[in-house]
This record gives sequence, C-alpha cells and structure tokens, in this order.
Amino acid sequence: MGLEFDYMREAMERQHISGDGYFTRHCHAFLEKELGVNKVLLTTSCTAALEMIGILLDLRPGDEIILPSFTFVTVANAFVLRGGRPVFVDIKPDTLNIDPDLIEARITKRTKAIVAVHYAGIACEMDRLLAIGHSFGIPVIEDNAHGLFGRFHGRALGSFGTFATQSFHETKNITCGEGGALIINDPKYADRAEILWEKGTDRRKFFAGLVDRYTWVDIGSSFLLSDLLAAFLFAQLGSRDRIQALRRRVWEYYFSELSALAASFSIGLPFVPDDCENPFHLFYILLPSEFARDELIDWLRAAKIGSAFHYLPLHLSRMGLSFGYKKGDYPVTESVSGRLLRLPFYNSLSQTDQDRVISAIEDFCASSPAIWRAKAGQ
Ligand SMILES: *Cc1c(COP(=O)(O)O)cnc(C)c1O
Repeated sequence: MGLEFDYMREAMERQHISGDGYFTRHCHAFLEKELGVNKVLLTTSCTAALEMIGILLDLRPGDEIILPSFTFVTVANAFVLRGGRPVFVDIKPDTLNIDPDLIEARITKRTKAIVAVHYAGIACEMDRLLAIGHSFGIPVIEDNAHGLFGRFHGRALGSFGTFATQSFHETKNITCGEGGALIINDPKYADRAEILWEKGTDRRKFFAGLVDRYTWVDIGSSFLLSDLLAAFLFAQLGSRDRIQALRRRVWEYYFSELSALAASFSIGLPFVPDDCENPFHLFYILLPSEFARDELIDWLRAAKIGSAFHYLPLHLSRMGLSFGYKKGDYPVTESVSGRLLRLPFYNSLSQTDQDRVISAIEDFCASSPAIWRAKAGQ
C-alpha cells in the first residue's frame, strides 16, 4: 500500500467522486505518456472497454470477430452481446498466443476485427497481426489485461492496435478492485468514444466549452470509472516500479529454481521470445498430461498450496457449442487447457513460501513415476 488512502481522501475533499474527475484525468495522462498512446478513457472494467469497441465498430448481428478460444469469456461476450459471432483461432504451443499462420483462413467478408490477447503479458506477434489486418482492412484490437508495461520490439503493449483494453481488476498487476481502460490509437474514433462513454451524450464537449448545452447524440452507456477508484488507481500507477520489481523477483525465482526439474520431467515453463519484455503477470507450468496436472493440483492442495488452472476453451463451453464448435476443433488450445497450472503469484509472496511450492512440486515428481510413464498415453 502506498498513497491509496491519501488520494481517496483527496478525491472526497475535492467533492467529485463520480467519473471524469481530477484523478481520472491524472490516470489518463499517466497512461497516455507511459504507453505512448493517443487517448485513454478509464472504464468500469476491461469488459466494458471491449463492449465499447463493439459499439465503435458498428457491429451488426452476424458480424464476425476473430479471437483465441484460449482466453477469458468476456473477450467473446463483449461482441456476442451485439450479435457478433466469435470465430476462434488456435494458439501457438510456445507463447500460448493466437497463431498468425491460422488467421487468414478464417477471414470472411463479415470479419470486423482480430483480437490479440497478450497471454501472461507476453506479446502476440504484433508485426504479423498488423500486416494481416492491414492487408484485409480489418482493425486489430489488443486485449492487454495481462500485459500492462509489457513490450514488443521495445514498444509498449497497448500502443499497436486500433484499440487496446486494460484491466485493473484485483487479479491484475495494477488494480483498483474493479476497473479498466479503453485505449484509442486511431484518432478517428476518439470523439465518438467519448460520447459512448458519457451515456451517448456530448457532455464532455459541454464541459470543454465546445457546445452550450449537452444532449443525447448517439447510443452509449455509463462506462466511466468513479473518481474514488481512479484515486486508488493513480496511487497504484505511482507504485508501478515497486510493484513490478516485486513481481519480477517472484517470476524469476520460480523460473530459475524450476528449470532443472522441468527439463528432467518434461514440464513446460513460460517462453519469453527475445523481442518481448515480460510484465510478470502470472507464472504457469505445463504438465505432460491432464492426469499429471490434476494429480499435482491435489498434491499441492494437500500441502495447503492453492494453485489454479484456466482457461476452459471457449469453443467447448455451452455457449461455444451453441455456435457449432466441437471437440477437436482447436487441438493446441484443448491440450494446453488440460495441462496448464498457475502457481501462487502475488506481490507479497515470500521466497520461503516459494520454496515450499517448489519443494512440493519436486516431491510430487519424485514420488509419482507412474504419471510420467503414463505421459505417452495421454
Ligand atoms: C481479466 C481479464 C479480462 C476482464 O477484465 P475485467 O476488468 O474484469 O473486465 C479480459 N480479458 C483478459 C485476458 C483478462 O485476463
């Protein structure tokens, strides 16, 4: 905790705790400068920012959005809400990001966007995705919920797409409990984005003195984040270096301490390509089989260590099946989803606690040879 309480008190003293206040403007300026982006609007969530994109793209029923199946549900739902159809693409087995080689075959006349989700904050191949988008005239959107302060070829994630979204949910590196941001890199969408954000009115123009009254001019909703939460967020952004340093230490310790074990037992560790800068959002391992992964979860639970997995492939969910997808459609996604395990990862995780996690995994490997023999059959 840094200045969160002080800034929230200041927001109250300023008597402006609704949206678009003093701290919101500070967060906008901070993010615009740090990420080198054209325009930022704080939203109530990353999901809300994705929903705004669905409106800005004038999505019509039957329009298609290309996205990975290995991702969070709202990446699909924000567009499905407007009648869009999710068109899934498989991921690459190394970075677990959307596979650029598989995208072109999925593009049709109805494709309205390609969503690049930077899994674990490791960049998608943005040069290739932007080239595909450019050649078909389709905007690329970055879901950068995991990737705040990550980089690709030295450039901040969130600065590549026509739009990008951030999440400040409690589970993310920088948080205000619930919150998000829409980044608008193509200035042609900027005015309309402000109108949608302000419930479909030109209220922002009114406060800027550009119109003499404000009125209903478009569809929209209330997407603004309370300035009380923006105050909390601004304190978090100010602690960025401290937070990122803590997370880096946790990530690098897992990586170095697990390397030898991973090599002997065919356990996959995160892959960070040379042209990517890691923002240290999460740490996962990939077990050789789903059976081994589930056994390890139980083993860790018995040692009172909480681990987690994600994502159940969207194409195999009840909603995914209703769009006609079936098992076998995205083999890498299905395999990774069954084998991935996320280790405990938070800012205050001590090295002693990490050592407990690491020894428990070592003990598991040493005591369960059958699991590794079963590997070929899984
Ligand atoms: C967390 C997350 C979201 C949703 O964020 P909210 O702020 O909770 O709406 C979207 N996409 C990805 C990849 C996420 O990890």
